[in-house]
Amino acid sequence: MLNFSYGGFNTGNALQLPTGGPCICIGRYNYCHRQPRADKLFSVDVSAIAFDCQAGAIMQSSSKVLSALMGVCVGDALGVPVEFSRRAERIKLPILGITGYGTYNQPPGTWSDDSSLTFCLAESLCAGFSPEEIAESFCRWFRQAYWTPHGRVFDIGNATRAALYRLERGVPPLEAGGTSEQSNGNGSLMRILPVAFYHKTLDLSSLIQRTHQVSRITHAHPRSQMACGIYISIAACLLRGLAPKQAYLEGGQNVREIYSQPPYASELANFQRIFSGKLDELPVSEIQSDGYVVSTLEASLWCLLNSSSYAKAVLKAVNLGGDTDTTGAVTGGLAGIFYGFDSIPQEWVAQIARIDDIIELSGRLEAALYSS
Ligand SMILES: [Mg+2]
Repeated sequence: MLNFSYGGFNTGNALQLPTGGPCICIGRYNYCHRQPRADKLFSVDVSAIAFDCQAGAIMQSSSKVLSALMGVCVGDALGVPVEFSRRAERIKLPILGITGYGTYNQPPGTWSDDSSLTFCLAESLCAGFSPEEIAESFCRWFRQAYWTPHGRVFDIGNATRAALYRLERGVPPLEAGGTSEQSNGNGSLMRILPVAFYHKTLDLSSLIQRTHQVSRITHAHPRSQMACGIYISIAACLLRGLAPKQAYLEGGQNVREIYSQPPYASELANFQRIFSGKLDELPVSEIQSDGYVVSTLEASLWCLLNSSSYAKAVLKAVNLGGDTDTTGAVTGGLAGIFYGFDSIPQEWVAQIARIDDIIELSGRLEAALYSS
């Protein structure tokens, strides 16, 4: 059992730590994960903790892995209580922070399938890239409630369910996803972000190919693959430090050639508003926030491009109504990368279910991807 301490301490300031057991401490500037060394309260300099933890699981809150995973999860949790609500309702009663109950009667801080499958993917990548392992992890979520906030699956998309049944019948992962035009819900886009962490080690063509493979496990239509590819290309630009508008323009441009080839070229018209470079100039009335993969990609980019903070971006996304948790999660992943973990309101992070497990997973993936 982990003790959890969340506070607004600065590096160099004294900090009171909880007693007993391993503990995770989070601050605005850094956090660490360490073994206990005293059975009573003591104060210790944070920089000393950081030093102590060099050999352990220390990671900085500036970690882009943590920023991205927490960005997805908080955006998801903001949207869960009001999923399927109408935009008019959100205008009348906007979401302003973490709430609970509502659509699925879940307590505040509950995240849904978007985050569960993102965490399954992230954890699988800790052991290397294997579509078989990713698919197995998704099935474990479905059947054994693995990586769920409270031990129960309460939300699953139709295309994802159908693909998981096919996997259980022995269909290979890269052939399991639906291929019909009706199988273009946002179910692969909502969980794809961890693939972007390969941007440091793969060239763009390989990065996008891997993205398509991960989409195909549940969503194999070229349109869903493309939506994921565009999103990952933009995320890779944000990870390299570009600002949102530049990342949107360059990320889109970088995949134009790949998507000018079959089987993707015939899908280009569906992404015309994104490739125009002017998506952000559309009025909100033109932005759909339903479960269609192109709607979710457009809405998330539009929210990112028309906001000036993590909180503003995800609240804008959730208050579009409709598929609120997924629009929040997809927006939140990009906004988390750009604005960073420290920009996510502390009072929201503190309410997130299984926060210690998410931080631990982020550390593991960061180490697996970048330590060698
Ligand atoms: Mg969901």
